[in-house]
Amino acid sequence: MSVKVVVNGYGTIGKRVADAVAAQSDMEVVGVAKTRPNFEARMALEKGFPLYVLAGRESDFKDAGMEISGTVEEMLNEGDVVVDCTPGDIGAKNKPLYDAADIKAIWQGGEDHELAGISFNACSNYDEAFGCDYARVVSCNTTGLSRILSTLDAEFDVGKVRATLCRRSADPGDVKKGPINAIIPELRMPSHHGPDVKTVLKQIDIDTVAIKVPTTLMHVHIVNVNLKQECTSDDVTDALAENPRVRLIGDGMSSTAEIMELARDMNRPRSDMWENCVWEKSISVSDGELYLFQAIHQESDVIPENVDCIRAMTELERNSAKSIEKTNKAMGM
Ligand code: NAD
Repeated sequence: MSVKVVVNGYGTIGKRVADAVAAQSDMEVVGVAKTRPNFEARMALEKGFPLYVLAGRESDFKDAGMEISGTVEEMLNEGDVVVDCTPGDIGAKNKPLYDAADIKAIWQGGEDHELAGISFNACSNYDEAFGCDYARVVSCNTTGLSRILSTLDAEFDVGKVRATLCRRSADPGDVKKGPINAIIPELRMPSHHGPDVKTVLKQIDIDTVAIKVPTTLMHVHIVNVNLKQECTSDDVTDALAENPRVRLIGDGMSSTAEIMELARDMNRPRSDMWENCVWEKSISVSDGELYLFQAIHQESDVIPENVDCIRAMTELERNSAKSIEKTNKAMGM
């Protein structure tokens, strides 16, 4: 059985989700939706994805010489599941469209947990999404934190978590956002990221603070975790090494710039780094307190999670580890 997937919103996340779905043997892309006839729309056509548009915008695409297959509403009739990758808060407005088309829907981290009722991370709560109609794949930061915390909790019983998030200011292709020469502290304490982790891992006691830094490449997390079971730094390193969505970083990589260079050297599509990159040397346990640094590629860590979420919701695979393995293999991870 091949599950039919449509992608509504073909920007940073949407175009990556479409490629990742197209790489799987048990699902296919039957439509992507764009608002404007730009270079991304033309690339979608060149990749062979049927292109759908907002009702009323058909002539914009025809004038640009782009062949369209219909409107967003028509696209929804073609799919078993829609992955909404529109900007934050727009996805919520699309819910009535999805309900009218009787299609399963996945939203991204820019939407509130309450919209879907299930916030998803494959390593943490795959089973919760099994067979469900709505889910939200959590943000890049929440995905990065959930992956390591679910592993640490299973192995060492996590107590209090404190994390400082140094967030990239904009994605590389984003010409509108900044700052380009300032650091902006988020003055709300704790930042919204901690409560967001609890939508996935309800049992975790976590506080987060955040600053925005002038970079486009990756986020960096400084993580402190109280571990209730006695363990050493090596035990934590071994446990994280077992997580198929965590990459231990060494070999002279001292910055996010070098991690992105590694992704380019690996010929990763769009130089994406889908895994959490944990600096192995930073993993340090003393008196039950773990400290580590990790880098998160904001444009891509949620992409394999969307694929697993489709598999869980459409009941293609019961077992989370098997789905993660299938997804990783097909994407070349
Ligand atoms: P984006 O702006 O790069 O892409 C959004 C796309 O949706 C654009 O192509 C836009 O034209 C299109 N769009 C706008 N309104 C639309 C509508 N009504 N119908 C169909 N398409 C519409 O945004 P993004 O960065 O891909 O973010 C999408 C979602 O993913 C957001 O919820 C965001 O919070 C989340 N997310 C983003 C990142 C990231 O770093 N970029 C990481 C994780 C999660």
